[in-house]
Amino acid sequence: MRSEEIIRRYSRVFPRAARVTYAPIVGVRAKNAKVWDIDGREYIDFLSDAAVQNVGHNNERVVRAAVEQTHRLIHFTFIYGFPVEPLLLAEKLREISPIENPKVTFGMTGSDANDGAIKFARAYTGRRTILSYLRSYYGATYGAMSITGLDFEVRSIVGELSGVHYIPYPNCYRCPFGKEPGSCKMECVSYIKEKFEGEVYADGVAALFAEPIQGDAGMVVPPGGYFKEVKKILDEHGILLVVDEVQSGMGRTGKWFAIEHFGVKPDIITLAKPLGGGFPISAVIGREEVMEALPSLGHTFTLSGNSVASRAALAVIEEIEERNLLRRAEKLGKYAKKRLERMKEEHELIGDVRGLGLMLGVDLVKDRETKERAFEEARKVVWRAYELGLIVAFLQGNVLRIQPPLTIEEELLDEGLNRLERAISDVEEGKVPDDVLSKVQGW
Ligand code: PMP
Repeated sequence: MRSEEIIRRYSRVFPRAARVTYAPIVGVRAKNAKVWDIDGREYIDFLSDAAVQNVGHNNERVVRAAVEQTHRLIHFTFIYGFPVEPLLLAEKLREISPIENPKVTFGMTGSDANDGAIKFARAYTGRRTILSYLRSYYGATYGAMSITGLDFEVRSIVGELSGVHYIPYPNCYRCPFGKEPGSCKMECVSYIKEKFEGEVYADGVAALFAEPIQGDAGMVVPPGGYFKEVKKILDEHGILLVVDEVQSGMGRTGKWFAIEHFGVKPDIITLAKPLGGGFPISAVIGREEVMEALPSLGHTFTLSGNSVASRAALAVIEEIEERNLLRRAEKLGKYAKKRLERMKEEHELIGDVRGLGLMLGVDLVKDRETKERAFEEARKVVWRAYELGLIVAFLQGNVLRIQPPLTIEEELLDEGLNRLERAISDVEEGKVPDDVLSKVQGW
């Protein structure tokens, strides 16, 4: 097989720091929700390439825009010059953003957008402290890594920014306070007040960084009133709310931005992954006065505002608007969630099904009472799914990540769910051998 040869050569040139793999797929071609590997095998992509392909792989409108732009002008640096494409994109992002008359700046990937947000928030407030969440993921550049609520043995080796404090995310399935939804007193909110009574000087906090739905933590959706309560506390102390929409934005949850489900207005939004339809582009969108707080050169990159990536992003937005993909994400999401909930009735391995729109998580457990995470079973499900022609991943070691393109054909969504159920059954019935455990890395 040609893929084996490629995979062997990979390990010779790439350090492990740059990668985390699930299945040995050498993708060479893709269209909408389908991917083909170098050996001609076809897969359904339930991952949208890590939540990148919201409008589908090689979306026709994106391809046309990028090809046309490439022929005309690939790059004319937006730092020194005045290329038109990033301007049109920034104006469009102002239109769809829930922040009034924001200013916008661009980068290349989610991590740099979060680094920018740290700098803008610190500059505007004149404060250093950042509040973040346990199990959050903001990226791998120094700033984003430093506010991430996980340490993959990396921070302990390379060091981090100081002044970052963590609070538990409101997780109703695995409540960090041992409470049950409905009968709790929102201890997740009062904990913040407690934090401010001792450990953290509230009026020295620049910003709270939040994923409106925690993605890499395993698709954790906060209870409806959570962000409104938190925002009240932040406002009392002049603390900014930064929402990271890198994974949840651009229609994934049925709204342009997931924070719109929760009735609060953030001060800064960070965007990346699906924004460029696969081209590297990120954005920081923030209140004008916040974005004007950093001096010139405070957040500039030679390759930011790239004209091809900007045109591709404009095409992504047009595609979402013209095909009404917000509505489609909501509709297909409800349908997929219902099917997953029915699977939960049949399969003991499934402890919880959650998510909004097409940002869904399936929490696999060894025991529904103890909710012990089913790490090995999750690896086996992902491997079996790969054998059955379905690309799916897990997060936190045990939560299946279901994020197909918003444009996935309904039959293909059904077929993918059939394959997923078959993989779960096969694992439950002991048909997947232990030796696959060493083949799946994941995190
Ligand atoms: N924020 C969130 C919520 C993410 O999910 C990710 C990537 N998983 C990032 C930031 C980092 O983005 P990137 O890998 O593009 O730097």
